[in-house]
Amino acid sequence: MAKAEPEILQMVKQDTSFCWPDAPEEDKYSVCVHCGFCLEVCPTYQELGDENESPRGRVYLIKQASQGILPLDESVINPVFNCLDCRACETVCPSGVQVGALIEEARGQVHYMKQETGGSSVQSAIENLFLRTIFPHPKRLKVVGKLMRVYQRTGMKSFVHKTGLMKVLPKHLQEMDAILPDIPAQSALDSLPDVIPAQGPVKGQAALFTGCVMDVVFSDINRATARVSARNGLTVLVPKDQVCCGALQVHAGDRDQAREMARKNIDVFLASGADYVIINAAGCGAALKEYPELFHDDKEYHNKAEVFSSKVRDISELLVEVGFEAPRGRVERTITYHDACHLCHAQKVRSQPREILHSIPGVNLVEMQDSERCCGSAGIYNLTHPEMAGNLLESKMDNVPEGVDGIAMGNPGCMMQIKVGVHRRHSDLDVLHTVELLDLAYRKEDDGRAGQ
Ligand code: SF4
Ligand code: SF4
Repeated sequence: MAKAEPEILQMVKQDTSFCWPDAPEEDKYSVCVHCGFCLEVCPTYQELGDENESPRGRVYLIKQASQGILPLDESVINPVFNCLDCRACETVCPSGVQVGALIEEARGQVHYMKQETGGSSVQSAIENLFLRTIFPHPKRLKVVGKLMRVYQRTGMKSFVHKTGLMKVLPKHLQEMDAILPDIPAQSALDSLPDVIPAQGPVKGQAALFTGCVMDVVFSDINRATARVSARNGLTVLVPKDQVCCGALQVHAGDRDQAREMARKNIDVFLASGADYVIINAAGCGAALKEYPELFHDDKEYHNKAEVFSSKVRDISELLVEVGFEAPRGRVERTITYHDACHLCHAQKVRSQPREILHSIPGVNLVEMQDSERCCGSAGIYNLTHPEMAGNLLESKMDNVPEGVDGIAMGNPGCMMQIKVGVHRRHSDLDVLHTVELLDLAYRKEDDGRAGQ
């Protein structure tokens, strides 16, 4: 009996090239009917014209590897990692194929395989730095924020630029350096009180998820999110022990690390007793809503994740749900709106940000062609695949309508990517989060009242 076990394992291994936990599930890939409706919305297929770089092709490759017909080698790995995980294919798929989940599960298999076999590349070095060394550790993230602030404020930045040292970095990092806004002295997580009272009749308690990149680079947007929530009758809680959502880890295939972070957030936010969890970053919101996917084999946390995820709302979604007050302050802007992939395709949030923008007196919203097409940010895709990300960014910038003075959106990754696009075009377009415009309109309303 003891002798037979390895043979059985060997037989199982020959039936599939996905030999590790969380393998892509048959009920996800078997529902693809090969109709090809997804081809015309897939950015990588549109750019490369290669079936293997399309949703249908990727699903087929994953199925072949699942059945042991293809080995888990570059013929599968490259298309799986070239995917943006933008989910545009899911929006048009008549069979409900969960391409994003399949891609993430397949990447998980590659991650486990690499852990066993070793191996290194520029891509895995970037992933290790961001996904394992920095983002899972709030204290390290804070240190990075402080170092970036020191770099910007002490003349170190101009010294680095004068010496030409910056030129040794990849082009995209040079551009990120150029567009990075001034890093605020304190994160929202550190500076906001634990509880911010609701104004007017109380509509519920909402715990603010502050995120990692959002709270280092755009913490003012977190503060604006807290203000507009409180103004609309929500008691805002700020749980201090929260950690990064783990979205980037899931996208990279490191599901164990993502689970560890998810467990921490689930415990912290459920303990807060809040009715809602508010999030203003599309990628994080989608990850938080999909936490149950990470816990198929852990009944306790699967149940907790279901409860947690049912409370998660994008800020625009929650404001519309509880009935937000239309602002009376005028903001004279002509704005277009970019649909972040993980807001429109993954969370199906499309009308709410537009409802908010339309409610602001003075804002003229001009729709952008292909507003739902990925800008190329896609987590750290713009760092790991700069050429494809750059091409998608060019298309996005080409679609910005004439005459607008700002682009609104709901995701920090898209904001940084589109700021790079603005920089490349030497344009003075503002890149804004939707909630910033609403907050500005409320503040103008308050200023008008104070001046009466
Ligand atoms: S649209 Fe859906 S069912 Fe049709 S080929 Fe694409 S993934 Fe398969
Ligand atoms: S998630 Fe995006 S890039 Fe990936 S297959 Fe679907 S449409 Fe293409």
